[in-house]
Amino acid sequence: MTNHLIQKLTEILEKFPGVGPKTAERFVFHLFRQTPNELSEFAASLEEIKNSIKICSNCQNFSTADPCEICTDSKRAKNTICVVAYPQDVIALEKTGSYTGTYHVLNGTLNFPEGLTPEKLKIKELIERLKKEAKQSGLKNLEIILGLNANMEGETTSLYLIKLLKPSGIKITRLARGLPQGSDLQYADEVTLLNALKDRKEII
Ligand SMILES: [Zn+2]
Repeated sequence: MTNHLIQKLTEILEKFPGVGPKTAERFVFHLFRQTPNELSEFAASLEEIKNSIKICSNCQNFSTADPCEICTDSKRAKNTICVVAYPQDVIALEKTGSYTGTYHVLNGTLNFPEGLTPEKLKIKELIERLKKEAKQSGLKNLEIILGLNANMEGETTSLYLIKLLKPSGIKITRLARGLPQGSDLQYADEVTLLNALKDRKEII
């Protein structure tokens, strides 16, 4: 019986990013050592994820509401959209406390050899959103900020989006190159991100 439980939990945990079978097994025994209260708290958090986490149909970020708090915030500029790869990037940019636009989460970056093609990302949703926003704010007042990682995949994705969107006449900017080469946006410190946003350059 115990073996069955160990195996089942290990299989679940080893699917987590960066977790191999050995680490997964360690996590299982860690769980076995928890008090009933701690386990209840853990189970309640999982239940909360199941019941309340949704994906915002506008920006594709995780949220407890659809549309999310950022998309429904009247103080946010709906015509300024920062395109990022992951929800963690939104958290990093929000920490700067100075970005007043909205976001669009692509849910990854392009990586053709690994099968991450444009159809796998939320690009179609971005185009639909831009069409709607252009009608509301006027095409000339739209700005897309490319907030993708300074690595190969981020660069490929940025170039793909520039090629796709530039002919429409939308203003496209990208974060200034203050971000360390090859690094993930989500790990950049607040000052670096703040400067990268402030010094963003328009793509002509
Ligand atoms: Zn949203």
